[in-house]
Amino acid sequence: MDLHSLADKLLIRPTDKLNKRARIDTGSECAYNCFFCYYHDTFRLERGMEAIHKDMICAQSSGMIDIDLSGGESSEHSKWLDIIALGKKYFRNVSTVSNGNKFSDKEFLQESYDTGLREILFSMHGYDSESHDRITGVAGSWKKLRKAIENAQQLGMLVRLNTTLTRQTVSHYAEYGKLLKHINPFEINFLTINPWGNCKAAERAAYNDVCQVAKCVVFHISDACYLNVRFVPFCHMVFYEYAVCDYLQHVYDPYDWNLLYSAQGNEDDEEAASCTDEFDVALINRRNSFVKRIECIKCKYFAICDGVEKTSTEPVQPISGNRIVDCNHYRKDYYTEYEDLMEKLNEDS
Ligand code: SF4
Ligand code: SF4
Repeated sequence: MDLHSLADKLLIRPTDKLNKRARIDTGSECAYNCFFCYYHDTFRLERGMEAIHKDMICAQSSGMIDIDLSGGESSEHSKWLDIIALGKKYFRNVSTVSNGNKFSDKEFLQESYDTGLREILFSMHGYDSESHDRITGVAGSWKKLRKAIENAQQLGMLVRLNTTLTRQTVSHYAEYGKLLKHINPFEINFLTINPWGNCKAAERAAYNDVCQVAKCVVFHISDACYLNVRFVPFCHMVFYEYAVCDYLQHVYDPYDWNLLYSAQGNEDDEEAASCTDEFDVALINRRNSFVKRIECIKCKYFAICDGVEKTSTEPVQPISGNRIVDCNHYRKDYYTEYEDLMEKLNEDS
């Protein structure tokens, strides 16, 4: 029985607004060496300005309003400031994903800010220098990351965090709690290691443990801090369902990448590339990377949940109750301030 098809048929498509943020690929240039990086094979390839410019035009004509510059490490690009300036010509908000290395230099961050950068999603994987530097493979990377976050907050930038939890870090929820309370980011994303692309899953933490960290952190962070737990089964987040962001919730998360734009021109996935609707890409993505077990049929989250990653052997825990068929059910009005915030953040840029 094709369980994904069955789940797809039960779903209703919410009328909520789809995200309009494009990932602009600047190339896989990066000075770090995180063992779970998706880009190891293509490391240190910088994309030319012409290709980046073409992508921006394409993103704008596809209806994208904001962008995330992403590599590798975009701030390592030799034309970094030119890329921000170009982004500002076409888009309202220019954001980037970063390991913090370059932004620990206050002057460099100030120049980036003055050119139009207003938001940074920092990759904060460890909870202290030993754990973080072990993951990045670079001594001193934690110190630089903390300095970069401090610099960005002093400038009033939007600071979000991506934290990939591993087997080694996942038991340190008290440390993460204290740390996040202290940093007070705008949003924290917890991620599991998924064995996709060049990423090997040797240190993959169990879903249950990843979700445990997220639940513990709730008691430390302020009410204003958004929490996202990416690609986990809902059955591990009972009472915290609002924080689950699987593929079908991702398309309504305004801070995340538009899946339809990302799928365009992807030669590895012709089916997704031929889609005209972001929701359809989300359905294809969950089918390609996740499975539902036969016992999932009796679960109330059956329609809206991705299931478990294809290589996972972890048990699922079906939850009884009325079937939820609106995939954005737990996230109605979660990000209501987005449009106003983006305007405000960029009013002087
Ligand atoms: S900082 Fe990001 S791009 Fe660089 S190695 Fe780590 S995961 Fe890869
Ligand atoms: S039992 Fe299956 S459908 Fe239900 S939440 Fe868990 S993985 Fe998802």
